[in-house]
Amino acid sequence: MNLKIFLCSYKFYLCGMKINGFILLFSTLILGLLGACQPEESNANKEIKILCTTGIIADAVENLVQGHAQVNHLMGPGVDPHLYKASQADVMAMQSADIIVYNGLHLEGKMTEILEKTGKSKPVYALGHYLDSAALIIPDGELVDPHIWLDLSLWAQGIQGLSEDLSAHFPGKEKEILLNSESYTKKILDLDEWVVEKMENLPKENRILITSHDAFGYFGKRYGVEVKGLQGISTAAEYGLRDLTNLVDFCIENKVRAVFVESSVNEKSLKAVVEGAVASGYDLKIGGKLYSDALGQKEGPAGNYLGMVRENVETIYSGLE
Ligand SMILES: [Zn+2]
Repeated sequence: MNLKIFLCSYKFYLCGMKINGFILLFSTLILGLLGACQPEESNANKEIKILCTTGIIADAVENLVQGHAQVNHLMGPGVDPHLYKASQADVMAMQSADIIVYNGLHLEGKMTEILEKTGKSKPVYALGHYLDSAALIIPDGELVDPHIWLDLSLWAQGIQGLSEDLSAHFPGKEKEILLNSESYTKKILDLDEWVVEKMENLPKENRILITSHDAFGYFGKRYGVEVKGLQGISTAAEYGLRDLTNLVDFCIENKVRAVFVESSVNEKSLKAVVEGAVASGYDLKIGGKLYSDALGQKEGPAGNYLGMVRENVETIYSGLE
């Protein structure tokens, strides 16, 4: 009897320890959670959120901040920035971002207003603003060509300018960010030299680049290639039957070897040019797909800016050689 009472009270004692242990663990968890929910005393360790419009810009920013910020972008592979409209989720992402980086020069045509408005309440930087206005191409004398990343030397300038503004948001890491900028822009300028050489190796008469829209104006100017697009510098521009037949005639007259579709533009328009040429007895081919306004899939060879440029140049070279 006494033993039974002893065992019973011993079990009760153990059970009590378990309950106490559970209560202790539970309270620790609750306190921990409460601690996590409390506002941080200092912003020093808070991860800075940088929102970029295109993947090409986000790639540059990631190379500058190298893990010191959370970098996101709105427009993924194959997305046309000229026609892109901000969704409700994008507006929320813009509101919660600490810094926004975009191209400017009206690349993000339908987002320009909201980007400029957001710039009144937080730092918003446009890469185009870091360039000397004399370097900008204004094909029709009115609208600036926004495709500055397709001249690698210009893109490097833009990134250097951005790195100075961006570094100011990372106290204690300013030097590191400026050094990152130096090493990334060095890679861009090395690639720039390679593009110059590669295009010089093409027979002069073959250096004509026809694409869906006029994205390659800076590329043509820098690397000595004549460029023509069916649509203007924005895909928002309409084109008519006359533009189409003019381009077909141009291809035939200039013995253009191939035309190139773009990953972010519908292929239909350029296929019509090829069909028009073939119907006139001229064997015009599609030379491949170029990444003009958007990167390729993340895992693919055009998933970052340097890879995208290499892919483009190899495609142009083999289509026109
Ligand atoms: Zn474009």
